[in-house]
Amino acid sequence: MSLSEAQSSVAGTKRPVTMEKLVNLCKRRGFVFPSSDIYGGLGSTFDYGPLGIELKRNVKEAWWRDMVQRRSDVLGLDAAILMHPRTWEASGHLQSFTDPLVDCKKCKQRFRADHITGDRCPECGGELTEARRFNLMFKTFMGPVEDEASTVYLRPETAQGIFVNFDNIVDTQRVKLPFGVAQIGKSFRNEITPGNFIFRTREFEQMEMEFFVRPNAEEEERWFNFWVEFRYNWFLKYGVARDHLRMRPHGAEELSHYSRGTTDLEFLYPFGWGELEGIAKRGSYDLDQHAKYSGRDLTYFDDETKERFRPWVIEPALGVDRAMLAFMLEAYDEDVVENEERIVMRFDARLAPIKVAVFPLLRKGGQPEKAQAVREELQRYFPVAYDQAGSIGRRYRRQDEIGTPFGVTIDHQTMDDDTVTLRDRDSTQQERIPIARLASEISARIGWHR
Ligand code: ATP
Repeated sequence: MSLSEAQSSVAGTKRPVTMEKLVNLCKRRGFVFPSSDIYGGLGSTFDYGPLGIELKRNVKEAWWRDMVQRRSDVLGLDAAILMHPRTWEASGHLQSFTDPLVDCKKCKQRFRADHITGDRCPECGGELTEARRFNLMFKTFMGPVEDEASTVYLRPETAQGIFVNFDNIVDTQRVKLPFGVAQIGKSFRNEITPGNFIFRTREFEQMEMEFFVRPNAEEEERWFNFWVEFRYNWFLKYGVARDHLRMRPHGAEELSHYSRGTTDLEFLYPFGWGELEGIAKRGSYDLDQHAKYSGRDLTYFDDETKERFRPWVIEPALGVDRAMLAFMLEAYDEDVVENEERIVMRFDARLAPIKVAVFPLLRKGGQPEKAQAVREELQRYFPVAYDQAGSIGRRYRRQDEIGTPFGVTIDHQTMDDDTVTLRDRDSTQQERIPIARLASEISARIGWHR
């Protein structure tokens, strides 16, 4: 799909969001700041503010809950970012983790050759250099001596931490095929053309799972299809619209060096369709390579068939930051409530940074004290905001803008009968309920168990 087609289809879905509006909201309300802002920022790195970190934690929690804790066939792991440099020889990253880079001879800008069409500079029409391969791994040194022998790399993916721990898992956890090992953590890639806000950055976080299956094409196909579908439905579950999500199988020419087949889940960003998550068939490539380079066997013994073999792998790999971008773009909405325009982030309640805001209607008559007591009680269960400044309508809108799903107002009647109004962000409907029932009512409405 061309960019203009994608844009018109974004328009077709009537989404009010643009990248600019989202970036502004993120900065204004404290979701995402440019990193090292006071020094003018550092090439495409970002810092998550007080609301951004809550959203980020919720996205990771949602993934961990559904991928690890609610399954009996997946275990968690947290491997170090710095790994033995042989890892990257074995995995093929030193050799093959490269992008083709071209420079414009006129304006000196750099581009990924596979991201441009034609043989002229997309910015100024100037002549381009021949493509050179550029390795994306960040290098540093371990210990005081800065020489070849002490070179280490910041991991470009979390997956290798899982493969090098294969024996540890099999030996200690009594696992049976098929089983998966999942990990969330930082990855680093010296991207040639980062951009589109947190879509492509040089430091980012990944959520990856390596699912080991019996080494035959039938098992591989079955589980590959299972995970593509599971991951697709996961995004729907947390609020992504079906129209904005699609599956795209890779052509043979674009497969990564380790892949026997990949399907991307693509999201309709304001700049067009782009990768959100990749699901790849890695075969036994990684275990074979690590066996060869480490001299370890890295096989699995099948009790049933009495055979030894290296399992094949299906890998769903998702960026935390990219998932946040998709959820924020999807949540962004503008509407009119009581003749006033509002921005409302329609986050799934499980992902919303703040779950409930507490407001005293008036700053007198004991209402603020009562409201503080309600805040304290609710804070035992959820992140809570408290606001007593300005008109009640303005206070509601401030919370709508950051996606707080529920508002609790303490008014004159509260002082008599210990009831409050509970307001719903999306419908703006209010219901009167006893304070004693608030926490359980809000819990039920968030729907943690779903
Ligand atoms: P691309 O071809 O766009 O560079 P990729 O296919 O190399 O990406 P994978 O190696 O499949 O990406 O990484 C898995 C997931 O990690 C991606 O789907 C994306 O969500 C996330 N990711 C990868 N690179 C970045 C990055 N530079 N910034 C943010 N997220 C990233």
